[in-house]
Amino acid sequence: MLRTIDSLGDLKGKRVLVRSDFNVPLKDGEITDDGRIRAALPTLKKLIEAGAKVIIMAHLGRPKGQVNPDFSLAPVAKRLGELIDAPVTLAKDTVGESAREESARLKDGEILLLENVRFDPRETSKDDSEREEMASQLAELADAFVSDGFGVVHRKQTSVYDIARKLPSASGLLVLKEIESLSKVTEDPERPYAVVLGGSKVSDKLGVIANLLSKANILLIGGGMAFTFLKAKGYEVGKSLLEEDQLDTVKRYIEQAAEKGVDLVLPVDVVAAPEFDKDAEPTVVAADAIPADQMGLDIGPKSQELYAEKIQSAKTVAWNGPMGVFEFPNFAGGTRAVAHALSTSDVFSVVGGGDSAAAVRQLGFDEDTFSHISTGGGASLELLEGKTLPGIAVLED
Ligand code: ADP
Ligand code: MG
Repeated sequence: MLRTIDSLGDLKGKRVLVRSDFNVPLKDGEITDDGRIRAALPTLKKLIEAGAKVIIMAHLGRPKGQVNPDFSLAPVAKRLGELIDAPVTLAKDTVGESAREESARLKDGEILLLENVRFDPRETSKDDSEREEMASQLAELADAFVSDGFGVVHRKQTSVYDIARKLPSASGLLVLKEIESLSKVTEDPERPYAVVLGGSKVSDKLGVIANLLSKANILLIGGGMAFTFLKAKGYEVGKSLLEEDQLDTVKRYIEQAAEKGVDLVLPVDVVAAPEFDKDAEPTVVAADAIPADQMGLDIGPKSQELYAEKIQSAKTVAWNGPMGVFEFPNFAGGTRAVAHALSTSDVFSVVGGGDSAAAVRQLGFDEDTFSHISTGGGASLELLEGKTLPGIAVLED
C-alpha cells in the first residue's frame, strides 16, 4: 500500500518537501505546454490548505550536473505563481545558502521552489553515498517529504528515492492517481485486455512486448516498430524504419504470441512516402507491397479500421506510442483512428508515453474521454514492463 499525505499527520506549520515534475517544454524561454504544472496543483493546494510550508524540488532539461541559467526554473516559478493562489519564491540554488535562508523564512501556506535539482551532480549520481549526502542536506530543510513527480518515479535519484528514506514520506495525489489507474491495467485487467504499441523504435519497447506476451490478449503493433515485425514476417519494407539487429528477437515474439494465443496484429496496409517530410506525397500500399524506394509513415485505412474493431472488442486497453508520424498531418490518420476508437468506446483506456499523450492533445481529443492519460512516459512504460519502480517501492508499507 502506498502511504498517502494523510499518513503524515497534521501538517500545519510543518515544512514539506515535494518532488514535482515540472519538466515542461520551453521555446525562447516561454513554456509551450504547462500540463505538468497543472497536474501538480492538487497536491500543492492540499498542502497549502493544510497550512504547510511547501518546498518544491524539480528538474528542467538536462543540465548535466552544472549550474546553467538556460535550465533555470524561473519560467516555472512564474507560471506556478499564476496558477496557484499562493506566493511562490524561487531559491537561487538547490541546497545552498539561498535554499536554507528562504526555507527558514517561509510562512504557512507559502511556496518555495528550489532551483533545478539537476544543477547538482549528486542528484543523478550512481554512487549511493553521493546521493545520500545530498539527501541529508535536503532533509535539513524540511519535516516531511511528498513524492508527486510521477514522470521521475522510475529513477533512483536523490530527490525521488534517497530523500524518501531520510524523512517521513508519502505519495502525492498525482502519483496515487497514476498508480491506481495504471495498476488497473498491469495487475488484473478486465479482459479482453488489448495493448496498442507504436512509436519509433522496437528496441525501446522490447521489454514491454516480452512482458505483454504473457499478459495481454491482443497486441496491436503500429508506428515505426511495425516494420521490423513486417520484415520478420518476410515482407520487404523499402526505406521504412528497420532494426535489423532486432529481427531474431521479433521473430521469436511472433512465435511466442502464436504459442500463447495472443492475437498479435500487424498493419495490413501502410501509408508510404518517398521521403520523411511533411509535404511528401502519401500513397496507400498493402503491407506486403511496400515499394523499395518508399518508407511507411503511418498505418493505412484498412489497418485503422481493423485496429479500431480490435479496440472495441476489448474491456481494457493500454496505448503507448503513435501509429505513425502524427506530427505530419498526412501521416496522422492511424494515430487519430486509435485515439478515436479509445475515446468513443466503453473500454477502460490508459494512454502512456510522452508523444502519445501529446498526440491526443494535438489532434484535438477531449482528454476526459480517456480513462487515464499518464503524465509519465518512461515510468508508465516501466510499469507496463512489470518492473518495480524505486520511487514507488520506497513509499510502500
Ligand atoms: P512515446 O513517447 O509515446 O512513447 P515514442 O517516443 O516511442 O512514443 O515514438 C514517437 C515518435 O515515433 C513520433 O515522433 C513519431 O513521429 C515516430 N513515428 C511513428 N511512426 C513512425 C514511422 N512509421 N516512421 C518513423 N517514425 C515514426
Ligand atoms: Mg517519446
